[in-house]
Amino acid sequence: MRKGMRMAELRVTGRVASGGFAAGPVTVFSTGGGAIRGAGEPVAEAQALRDAIAAALEQLWDLAANVGSDGADILAFQTAMLEDETLSETAFAAIGAGVTADRAWRAALDAEIGGYEAADDVHFKARASDLRDIRDRVAGILSGATTEPGPPAGAILVGEDLTPSRFLSMDWSGGGGIALTQGSASGHVATLARARGVPMIVGLDLDLGGIAQRADALIDGASATLTIEPEAATRDDFAARARAAKTSRSAADEFRTRPALTADGTPIAVCINIADPAEVETLDPRICDGIGLVRTEFLFGDKHGLPDEETQYQAYRRLAEWAAGKPVTIRTLDAGADKPIAGLTLDHEANPFLGMRGIRLSLAKPEIFRTQLRALCRAAAHGAVEIMLPMVALPRELELARSHLDEALIGLQAAGVPCRRPELGIMVEVPAAAITVDAFDAAFFSIGSNDLTQYVMAAARDSDAVAELNDPSHPAVLRLIAQVAAYGARVGRKVSLCGDAGGEPRFIEALLAAGLRALSVSAAALGSAKEAIARVNIGGLG
Ligand code: PEP
Ligand code: MG
Repeated sequence: MRKGMRMAELRVTGRVASGGFAAGPVTVFSTGGGAIRGAGEPVAEAQALRDAIAAALEQLWDLAANVGSDGADILAFQTAMLEDETLSETAFAAIGAGVTADRAWRAALDAEIGGYEAADDVHFKARASDLRDIRDRVAGILSGATTEPGPPAGAILVGEDLTPSRFLSMDWSGGGGIALTQGSASGHVATLARARGVPMIVGLDLDLGGIAQRADALIDGASATLTIEPEAATRDDFAARARAAKTSRSAADEFRTRPALTADGTPIAVCINIADPAEVETLDPRICDGIGLVRTEFLFGDKHGLPDEETQYQAYRRLAEWAAGKPVTIRTLDAGADKPIAGLTLDHEANPFLGMRGIRLSLAKPEIFRTQLRALCRAAAHGAVEIMLPMVALPRELELARSHLDEALIGLQAAGVPCRRPELGIMVEVPAAAITVDAFDAAFFSIGSNDLTQYVMAAARDSDAVAELNDPSHPAVLRLIAQVAAYGARVGRKVSLCGDAGGEPRFIEALLAAGLRALSVSAAALGSAKEAIARVNIGGLG
């Protein structure tokens, strides 16, 4: 359906991943990147696919002319596959039966990829990634991804799922929202959306092919509803609900600038989580007790390659200076799982959340780890920078990281570069670390409730289907948190929690009851977290 054709109001409900209200024009996007094409006649769809394949071949020939021989070999394989008509014949048959070019192409390639992935021969298996590449290149051309501009400011993005890098490449300053048929309320995109105050709904039962580009849409992040082409009464109701939410947000905002105190006067340290240094530009450091988590992946997802020491140093230094003496806990690279980085993380792990991610990857790539540690030691000369290691399971990982830190410092000092030794702490997000917390000689501990919950409950954080199991207030998770908090209190080492549960008012009483006295939350959640803290009576907790 095209803009201009009137469509009846369509209303679907999913799950809230990030609250708030947004109204704007729809941009339907494909997982491959661009917007999904509206359906045309089969003849036109078949021609569109033929044109896209021809354009993809042109691109591959151009590329092959500019790469070395190993790259040219890969491209030669891809070219040969694309030229082979048996690859596309299933797609053309599906188009003849009324399927859109985009879907027919993806389905045909997905079936082919499945066959390669199931092969015993490792060379065959490896070819699956070439096929994925071909699939996405043609699909991208079909969707106009290479020629069309990105979504307009304030757009409501509607699609299957969104990657963190795509989220970060968008400009959300003009508003907008996200509505996904898949997605997850506890994945990284949801975390980023909450931090930026971008409304997001996941798990919508929606036929993407039936939605017109630029149709009017409303996202109501309180009731998890997406409305397309709303009627006047729906718009009025939406506006009233958005106004009421704004009023209650202003009430929470009253707490934002004050120190966090429980109802009976116990101070709680509340820091902020940062995924991009630009986030602090508009924030007053007095609203928080420091930065409890800097997710440094933002620096590494750049298409220009891995960041050098100087780029990292400048970014970390900016945060240290902003915090003006308050702690700034910077986490070393936590790539892998749902935060892949091309050329760095492994491509085809069967279980990426249980695979090569976090500290495991850093220790396997010491030159990249050492560069980050050097940048951190240099930034520590400008403020209270602390280093935090993600996904630690074994004391040995902490000790290996410490020796890399020693070497980084020795190198800097020998070269006369100003630097300071940061405190070295760990995330507690792997159950093994929580259970054996007393075996870790860490300067501080920060509980990553997002990962800890998914591992304790065996319920993936990026799966909407098991979202109910992914519950940080389950007694199994809370007991581990209480054990870590009690250990920290006993030995006098700081224990905080920087997972998303800390920013959720409904979990705060349980977290304080577990013994936590420090939380780190997204800047957008500061007011409501402090307001929830003010309602807790520590003396009355069981
Ligand atoms: C966590 O796992 O709770 C956490 C804070 O880390 P991330 O969400 O970046 O994995
Ligand atoms: Mg984590």
